[in-house]
Amino acid sequence: MEFNSADIQAFRDIWVFCEQREGKLSDTDFELISEGRKLADERGARLVGVVLGWNLGDEVRELGGYGADEVIVCDHPLLEVYTTDAYAKVLCDVVMEEKPEVLLIGASHIGRDLGPRCAARLHTGLTADCTHLDIDMGCYRKFLEESSTLDLAAVKMDMEDKNLKMTRPAFGGHLMATIICPRFRPCMSTVRPGVMKKAAYSAEMAERCEIRRVPVELSDGDLKTRVTEVVKAARKMVDLIGADIIVSVGRGISRDVEKGIALAEELAQILGGGVVGGSRAVIDAGWLSADHQIGQTGKTVHPRLYVALGISGAIQHKAGMQDSELIIAVDQNDGAPIFEVADYGICGDLFEVVPLMIEEIKGVQK
Ligand code: FAD
Repeated sequence: MEFNSADIQAFRDIWVFCEQREGKLSDTDFELISEGRKLADERGARLVGVVLGWNLGDEVRELGGYGADEVIVCDHPLLEVYTTDAYAKVLCDVVMEEKPEVLLIGASHIGRDLGPRCAARLHTGLTADCTHLDIDMGCYRKFLEESSTLDLAAVKMDMEDKNLKMTRPAFGGHLMATIICPRFRPCMSTVRPGVMKKAAYSAEMAERCEIRRVPVELSDGDLKTRVTEVVKAARKMVDLIGADIIVSVGRGISRDVEKGIALAEELAQILGGGVVGGSRAVIDAGWLSADHQIGQTGKTVHPRLYVALGISGAIQHKAGMQDSELIIAVDQNDGAPIFEVADYGICGDLFEVVPLMIEEIKGVQK
């Protein structure tokens, strides 16, 4: 099935699939709603959040506080816990019925499973792991106008069509690719948690948000799998995305891994209840668990303070931390690329520098 331009015109509004667990919306929902608000304003469209679950109450109104004009609620006992079959069926049903132009989904475990399934079923394109979304070509216009090597006819047409531009890292993070989906709808995109900034909450906007419950057609026959039990992880995962202060370690701790991590933990604590993160080298070596990884294939963070200890600053690491408010880097190689993004750089052996930092901070705090 291919859409013609009349079909495409029938699609309107910006939608965000909002994930809930036990009735609690996630921070990624609020980030995507905040970003969706900007897109909807640029497009002159409405912003709609879609929540699937069971016994959902007025808590979904919170989405309005971040910019949703409306929340569509699909409430059904078989949607109480996530299953691919049930969620994909119900989300696709409501999309086919209401025809949104754009559908954004968080790149959580659920989103990464649900997004591609829905895209295949809806016969449209999905750009995974986007780091930037735009409707207007403003940010690219100068580049396009100055480019002498490109035949810009198609691109310019797209500028007028106002397709969604979905940007994501490509070729191992060495290139940013901007992707459009001009011939199919909805344009689908998954966005990693922590990438988009959450807007300020407005109780007044939340009050104005409309809540609409739509009928759900779902039966046991639609489900190929059944969740018999949900077992929560016994170990508490580190909350890097919500952290204000992060001290990260890299392969530079290899001389004494235990001591390196202990120093990072102590520094994080003394700086005011920070948490420890790591580069992929550290995770691959098994020195920290995977939930600590920061970067392109780990988490994207923007804390108030990011301290990098013995991290060279590969492009894939920087992709996850360079938007931090203040960056301090300690590395013994004065040419390490981490210094390119650091506000303060200390060239030296971290095993000597970090104890001095801890001592100094303790002195100031006395
Ligand atoms: P190195 O690059 O080995 O750097 C170690 C640094 O420590 C050096 O600069 C060295 O000078 C310094 N050092 C050594 N000893 C000391 C000391 N005693 N005191 C002070 N400094 C010292 N990486 C990520 O981090 N996150 C990702 O999400 C990620 N995703 C990737 C995705 C793809 C597709 C690919 C191809 C790679 C990815 N990588 C990622 C890997 C990335 O390319 C780098 O290999 C990795 O970030 C290197 O980690 P590092 O900086 O800890 O190690």
